[in-house]
Amino acid sequence: MAAAVLFRHPSSLEHDTGGHPENARRIVAIERALSERDWLGWEVRSSPAATREQLGRVHPAQHVDRLEAFCRRGGGMIDMDTLVSPGSFEAALHAAGGAVAMVDALLGSEGTAAAGGGAVRCAASLHRPPGHHAKPAQAMGFCLFGNVAVGAAHAIEAHGAQRVLIFDWDVHHGNGTNAIFRERDDVLFCSIHQSPLYPGTGAASDIGRGAGAGFSVNMPVPGGSGDAVFLSHVEHVVRPLARSFAPDLLLLSAGYDAHADDPLAGCRVTDAGFAGMAALMRATADELEIPLGLVLEGGYELAALARCVVVTLAALGADEAPAVPAVELDPLALQAQQRLAAHWPTLA
Ligand SMILES: [Zn+2]
Repeated sequence: MAAAVLFRHPSSLEHDTGGHPENARRIVAIERALSERDWLGWEVRSSPAATREQLGRVHPAQHVDRLEAFCRRGGGMIDMDTLVSPGSFEAALHAAGGAVAMVDALLGSEGTAAAGGGAVRCAASLHRPPGHHAKPAQAMGFCLFGNVAVGAAHAIEAHGAQRVLIFDWDVHHGNGTNAIFRERDDVLFCSIHQSPLYPGTGAASDIGRGAGAGFSVNMPVPGGSGDAVFLSHVEHVVRPLARSFAPDLLLLSAGYDAHADDPLAGCRVTDAGFAGMAALMRATADELEIPLGLVLEGGYELAALARCVVVTLAALGADEAPAVPAVELDPLALQAQQRLAAHWPTLA
């Protein structure tokens, strides 16, 4: 039994978006880089399609039906950014199903809370379309179903997870994931994102609502932010929150469009920055003795995307935990600590 499992499906290549930046070449580039490295020793599995029941925990049935009918009729533009083809519905089912199967591997009989021991302690679901912009009843921002949200809901409903932490390091705010869990206290959603930038949500003041107050942690950063800012938010905000929240499962919504080479945004994260964030999250999962799953989001510069997925999976899956970088407290991360301290006293 492998310690690390990767979920993929060829339907990711059949979601035809033409010359759109979110296109099949992204998956081709990632899989080529991984296969050249013997998939880093990860076991590769085929993702099942998500069932209506699994999707229904996050999306109303009408949303699923409408999307299926639209794709079957040939597809087209859902909005200015979101384009679908006849193969898109199947691709979206497997993208969500990959996240579900990943959670099954991590929390089912194969997985274990303890690191090592040969059981599955980390996994990745590498598909397109991405998911973190998809709202319960609205596809948007290249996203059709909320893949990581479907995975988190599956952890809670099917595996009895009490708490799930989702950390979204995509350069865009994961507005869909945030909307899905905004009023809940069993999913802690943490997002670092460039602001201002699409989709315009994710203000620092958006901390969740009702029972979920304090469980949406939005960390907007200005364009130009690089490794120091991103790593500081991980080390000094996300990791202390994880220790306080004590989740049963850690999920990464991993986009690579904060990379300096990415054409869609203006952040300056390097390959080493992504490796560092991955090492910090790996250390967090090890420390809390919980499994960690990664769901691919954005990333549009093919070479940087492929390289950074490789360094991330290398850090997550390595037999020996990689060295954790020493990270200074950035002024923006300090501000985040201060505003969160009312809900999370250990950050004070
Ligand atoms: Zn993005």
